[in-house]
Amino acid sequence: MNIHEYQAKELLAKYGIGIPAGHAATTVEEAVEAAGKLPGPLYVVKAQIHAGGRGKGKFAELGPDAKGGVRLAHSVDDVRSDAGEMLGNTLVTIQTGDEGKQVNRLYVTDGVDIESEYYLAMLVDRASGQVAMVASTEGGMDIEDVAHNTPEKITTITIDPAQGFMPHHGRAVAFALELDGALNKACQKLAKQLYTAFMDLDCEMLEINPLVETKDGQLLVLDTKMSFDGNALYRHPDVEALRDETEEDPAEVEASEYDLAYIKLDGNIGCMVNGAGLAMATMDIIKLNGAFPANFLDVGGGATTEKVTAAFKIILKDPAVEGILVNIFGGIMKCDIIAQGIVEAAKEVNLSVPLVVRLEGTNVQKGKDILANSGLPIVAADDLGDAAKKIVAEVKQAA
Ligand code: ADP
Ligand code: MG
Repeated sequence: MNIHEYQAKELLAKYGIGIPAGHAATTVEEAVEAAGKLPGPLYVVKAQIHAGGRGKGKFAELGPDAKGGVRLAHSVDDVRSDAGEMLGNTLVTIQTGDEGKQVNRLYVTDGVDIESEYYLAMLVDRASGQVAMVASTEGGMDIEDVAHNTPEKITTITIDPAQGFMPHHGRAVAFALELDGALNKACQKLAKQLYTAFMDLDCEMLEINPLVETKDGQLLVLDTKMSFDGNALYRHPDVEALRDETEEDPAEVEASEYDLAYIKLDGNIGCMVNGAGLAMATMDIIKLNGAFPANFLDVGGGATTEKVTAAFKIILKDPAVEGILVNIFGGIMKCDIIAQGIVEAAKEVNLSVPLVVRLEGTNVQKGKDILANSGLPIVAADDLGDAAKKIVAEVKQAA
């Protein structure tokens, strides 16, 4: 789960991390009010969307010469006009895709006199099974180019979670950022605070870009992105409350309401499967037969009629879907119950594309009979290979 910059900054501030003052706003008036609470004379008005690259982003409605999604404002009047231009318009950045994201919220924050910009991130490194801290002196808006063209300017330091953060980790980070004296000390302290926040909050990723040295010698977080391990969210209701569903894929939001694991893919064959392993195998075998899955969808162990119906609806909302393959193993949930659910769901959603169903497990014959006697054009399959062949053939025939 991702959150907005202003929310991440509020979380980090609780760990004593240096953040410039700022306030979120959803209207021009709120933005002006927010600026009024700041000392000025320099303000920064920042679009709050779940995507980076805002500074270099462009507003679809404003033409190529307009300013981007992070704007320096030299007076409260400038804050007013910038807020007016940004709110409700669509910001396109390298991370949003061509369709961009509508800006519904701004963050108005203190303008900072920047001496240097650094990059510092932390993530779960699956390869080492440790927490990796990634640091670079080349922070700012071109970090992707740095990673691509001069990877030697990026240092990775791994921390064994069983051992925890040790003073030498802090020294290594400060060394990588080439900081001296008081800044070096401040950086060691910051690295430790970030690690504590990262572990406490079950983060997946915590990125600070830029971390800045100010002209008056402070170390401040000017931009941050945080994402959390969805499986650990139950431990953090306060973090879960920060979820902004308007920033997420609507089909994935709907799926999560029914406790379905759904991920949209690029193919044309919708899949409804129980169990992640079976879902992976189903996707593989569709590919083996020369077609591509339109989604990954695991309805889980308790595939009730309600869940199956929700799953059908979600799959069918994707205009790319030209056929559906249901592949369900009836273990705890018996095949006849599942078949009943499929028939009811297919009737309810007025199924308009070919449907191939492969059932296996407890009461499989009863289940097949229910499908056969339903009066619906459901194609029954005997095994996984047969099912994949049949759905690919059905879709080709329909095309
Ligand atoms: P993004 O990464 O989405 O482009 P950032 O918040 O990193 O957005 O802002 C882009 C650039 O704007 C930063 O690299 C920094 O140079 C400048 N900037 C951001 N916030 C401030 C601020 N509070 N004061 C001064 N400059 C800022
Ligand atoms: Mg940034």
